[in-house]
Amino acid sequence: MVEDAPAPPPPEDLRERRRRQLLSDISSFLLTHRLELSGYTLTIAHDVMTGCNPKLAWLIERRVEARMPITLEWLEEAARNSGRNDGAAALTTMMGQLETTIAEFAQTATAARTATSEYSTALEAHVGDLRQVTEAGAMINELAVIARDMLSRTREIEIELTRSEEETRTLQKSLAEARREAEMDHLTGLPNRRAFESTYEAEFASTRESGEPLCVAFCDIDHFKRINDTHGHEAGDRVLRTVAKALAKISGDKCHVARHGGEEFVVLLRGRDVEETWNVLDDAREAMAARKLVNRATDIPFGRITFSAGIADVHAYDNPREALKAADDALYAAKNAGRNCVLKARDLPPDDI
Ligand code: GH3
Ligand code: MG
Ligand code: MG
Repeated sequence: MVEDAPAPPPPEDLRERRRRQLLSDISSFLLTHRLELSGYTLTIAHDVMTGCNPKLAWLIERRVEARMPITLEWLEEAARNSGRNDGAAALTTMMGQLETTIAEFAQTATAARTATSEYSTALEAHVGDLRQVTEAGAMINELAVIARDMLSRTREIEIELTRSEEETRTLQKSLAEARREAEMDHLTGLPNRRAFESTYEAEFASTRESGEPLCVAFCDIDHFKRINDTHGHEAGDRVLRTVAKALAKISGDKCHVARHGGEEFVVLLRGRDVEETWNVLDDAREAMAARKLVNRATDIPFGRITFSAGIADVHAYDNPREALKAADDALYAAKNAGRNCVLKARDLPPDDI
């Protein structure tokens, strides 16, 4: 006699569809009869739906026909009478739920942490369910131990993820802080030369594209060495801060003021041509020159604090470096012209050779 070859196992997606159908049948059974979700009720429902316990299925059918309620107490009695209890059903269901929960683990640390906490809540529920499956014997008990272990490990991961998240946030904060520190001048609170250089590069590129004017200017305090020599370095620092504050007043969305070094500042103005830039800077110069500053440590007047400036139209030059050089040359010319004045690069007399 030739034995029939065993039927090939159903393809993966078919098995998956059956499993999902079974889960759906089980849950609608529990919902229809308002039965609490537990390992015990899941096991019963599984046995009924899969045909593992035909006697119990028959008892339930009869009770439904008689329009009698299916309560937990009645089920316990009926299950005892039907004499079969298969814990594998509960396990299948719970593993399905576990799989879903695990699949919800997100990619990023934040999402992962959120999912982990959901996962641990779900695991906790599964552990609770497994504890209720008292009649299923050693296998279920072992699985309960594994699930409890998974739960405690998940908790640890959750704590670790929270800590990493916090550390990441702290790190991000310190990095942002370090970046700010690295781009700030500590004496005046203005952006420093490094910050100016990156702003200059960015503004150069964007105004070249948009066609907006861009001017750069160097401002240098006049005879600053004398202030230091007469009033001391600390008083000199206060004067530097005062001039920085005065220049900072003109800064805004389209005007960047930075300390370029020593007693020299650099101003970058976008959207204003050379004439308009000259007006802005000359107003600032005039306002500064009109002030009467007194050394608060000695009550001795500083005398007039002035600065000179040189302006260049950035896009009138071959490259941004050339424009800076032109502004610096204009500043030098302003110093030579007697200081306390603002000169435009294009006003310079041609170089005699
Ligand atoms: P000019 O009108 O030609 O610019 O003359 P000046 O005296 O301002 O220029 P000079 O380059 O001869 O001197 C600049 C002085 O600025 C020398 C330096 O010690 C001083 N200086 C630079 N940085 C600081 C600072 O942070 N604080 C103080 N108090 N002084 C500074
Ligand atoms: Mg100077
Ligand atoms: Mg100088």
